[in-house]
Amino acid sequence: MSEAELVLRSRRVVTPEGMRAAAVAVAAGRIVAVLPYDADVPAGARLEDFGDDVVLPGLVDTHVHVNDPGRTEWEGFWTATRAAAAGGITTLLDMPLNSLPPTTTVGNLRVKQEVARDKAHIDVGFWGGALPDNVGDLRPLHEAGVFGFKAFLSPSGVDEFPHLDQEQLARSLAEIAGFGGLLIVHAEDPHHLASAPQHGGPEYAHFLASRPRDAEDTAVANLIAQAKRLDARVHVLHLSSGDALPMISAAKAEGVAITVETCPHYLTLTAEEVPDGASEFKCCPPIREAANQDLLWRALADGTIDCVVTDHSPSTADLKTDDFATAWGGISGLQLSLSAVWTEARRRGHGLQDVVRWMSERTAALAGLANKGAIAPGRDADFAVLAPDESFTVDPAALQHRNRVTAYAGRTLYGVVRSTWLRGHRIAADGTFTEPRGRLLTRHP
Ligand SMILES: [Zn+2]
Repeated sequence: MSEAELVLRSRRVVTPEGMRAAAVAVAAGRIVAVLPYDADVPAGARLEDFGDDVVLPGLVDTHVHVNDPGRTEWEGFWTATRAAAAGGITTLLDMPLNSLPPTTTVGNLRVKQEVARDKAHIDVGFWGGALPDNVGDLRPLHEAGVFGFKAFLSPSGVDEFPHLDQEQLARSLAEIAGFGGLLIVHAEDPHHLASAPQHGGPEYAHFLASRPRDAEDTAVANLIAQAKRLDARVHVLHLSSGDALPMISAAKAEGVAITVETCPHYLTLTAEEVPDGASEFKCCPPIREAANQDLLWRALADGTIDCVVTDHSPSTADLKTDDFATAWGGISGLQLSLSAVWTEARRRGHGLQDVVRWMSERTAALAGLANKGAIAPGRDADFAVLAPDESFTVDPAALQHRNRVTAYAGRTLYGVVRSTWLRGHRIAADGTFTEPRGRLLTRHP
């Protein structure tokens, strides 16, 4: 500990061995030791004592649409990473679509990296995109450091990012498996969506019926079959249908390399409570019924679902019209995700250890970010300091997102993020932020 420059200590530090009183020694942006709470602080090291506030590893959010450049009026690296920092997130991976250009060639990746470079308040990495016509770009993107590739199996919502049919999926997946990469998939089957009733209008029940569970279930079943056949690694994005869980758990038991995420909105909001016309609740797949939500929580508890990510996907307020068929689909979750998930987790008897597993440890593992996801020697000194028993009412005006549209307005949430630390620097506290200190990350070889 003699080399330590900084010691953070608390009565409650979430470590891989559990929550305990500890002193975390930091040097050169890394954790060098996790010691007993009352260990001697070396001369010259700065001490930060958080008392009873809980120190968590900084959250790793692997599903964020920053939309920068090209749709920066929807969001941007400056605002998205500030919102993330305010919410205890210290690493995000940006999705390849909704920005212009999409991240589907190495040249486009360079454009995105250039735009993000000076605006990142937290660490930022990039997913690539798998399109019908860019199979030849996948390996170069992999070598340029993207963390994997996103594909849609049904229309994505933007014209420049077309979806893959089953044959195209097989071709991309074979290519990606050939270099040991990861394919992450928006799994809704287009034929089931096309045959579902499409009424449109402001009624949430109509919207829900237009994106039925069997669209997800069929797409997941097809994906499992392809992953098995090609011995490929796949990840199911934003799972909403609880009916897909038994086959996912069977595939895992069989050794298929499949992981699954869900999102705060599926875990904390229900179809029954969405007011008609309230398209701030619109996302695809949709928020489903309370009984379905129980299945998702059970699957998180037993490990069938691996992790929780925001799928932060904002737009300008004018695109959130009261017609669910045409309104932009996407929920802004960055700043509130930790508190939202924690509020429901604690009600269901889970501990912060579980939340850290879902939102930091397993997301870091998904992306292969060996330096993130735990408070342990050798990891980056990234932390969120949380007052877990303190509550607040969500005021859209307090959000850092570019567009302050939120499905959580007026809700009372537990868990106030007191401060967020990146590589040993306090980057956010009480609504104030330092200059950007985030780094651009690439996949570890
Ligand atoms: Zn998304």
